[in-house]
Amino acid sequence: MPLYSRDPILLTPGPLTTSLATKTAMLRDWGSWDSAFNAVTARLRAKLLAVIEAADTHVCVPLQGSGTFAVEGAVNTLVPRDGHVLVLINGAYGKRMAKLVQMMGRKVSTFETADDVPTTAADVSRLLTADPSITHVGLIHCETSTGILNPLAEIAAVVARHGRKLIVDAMSSFGALPIDARSTPFDALVAASGKCVEGPPGMGFVFVKKGVLEGCAGHSTSLALDLADQYAYMERTTQWRFTPPTHVVVALEAALDQFVAEGGRTARYARYHANYTTLVDGMTKLGFRVFLDPAIQAPIIVTFHAPPDPKYTFADFYARVRDKGFILYPGKLTQVETFRVGCIGAIGPDEMRHAVNAVRDTLAEMGIGEVAPASARRAAA
Ligand SMILES: *Cc1c(COP(=O)(O)O)cnc(C)c1O
Repeated sequence: MPLYSRDPILLTPGPLTTSLATKTAMLRDWGSWDSAFNAVTARLRAKLLAVIEAADTHVCVPLQGSGTFAVEGAVNTLVPRDGHVLVLINGAYGKRMAKLVQMMGRKVSTFETADDVPTTAADVSRLLTADPSITHVGLIHCETSTGILNPLAEIAAVVARHGRKLIVDAMSSFGALPIDARSTPFDALVAASGKCVEGPPGMGFVFVKKGVLEGCAGHSTSLALDLADQYAYMERTTQWRFTPPTHVVVALEAALDQFVAEGGRTARYARYHANYTTLVDGMTKLGFRVFLDPAIQAPIIVTFHAPPDPKYTFADFYARVRDKGFILYPGKLTQVETFRVGCIGAIGPDEMRHAVNAVRDTLAEMGIGEVAPASARRAAA
């Protein structure tokens, strides 16, 4: 029997396992009008800007809600009502962005590659040349539905060269993968509290190029998601416009202090990369095959082919691994049966080794002999 009083380790790409210091930062109540809390908000915005070296070029606008709220806020605020957004898709989050652009009433075009094929800067250049009516490009940096990495810096340079504007969903990359606002041009970049900065879930934040929001009044079709209004109000009053997620804000500040103490973005990347190699080495030894080519795989989340053995069901596999203390993530692909394992959160290679052992014991319990997909077994034979 599992010890239900002990939290399982979340191998999911948000919410994720947070540190004790981050959790204990939430054991206080804060008044949203109080100057002490407003000072936390101001420090937090500055600390977030520093993660991508954006203090001179961008402003940080926090927004209540999950990451999608912030993506929707960025699109609805930055794109004029007669704007035209080209969304680059190679997974579920790209599809979600296209859907919300359309629901916000803006014209949307899509360019879709397969789940295991990154969008290239050459693709984007060709599409922008072909259609001068495109005003904005929407890009998912790390497409969390597989873990594939799209070439942000190259695509940003091409979008800027064509004089168009870029909106980046960097939800699962911010804080871990390199993003430098001094050399990578973008109008907006969106991330959230509960991913690689290892805070609790509940707020998003959008980095908007300086001066842009001042021209965006009246764009938004939503009151709550209007980033121009949120920004103007926060600048004027130091407060959030509507009730802030106070516990999330203070815990995220604590998480960012730990981020800096750990050694910042490069140290975070190094730890996640060690998690990733420990996971993939261990799972490969058990017979599992990774869905993506390592050359396009970010060390954030890994998609594995499900065992072809008829004794395998994800529900049973998941429940047994959970009872050993690890929460896995279902696959998000329609064509192939997969499951996913996150490498992010306040965990290290030891936790990944234990997770692999839990998977090994689960395979034995379920009597699963065929672990590798048939194609991989044929290749090995
Ligand atoms: C997590 C995530 C989001 C936001 O999802 P929510 O469920 O709204 O938090 C958006 N895009 C990507 C790439 C993500 O990984």
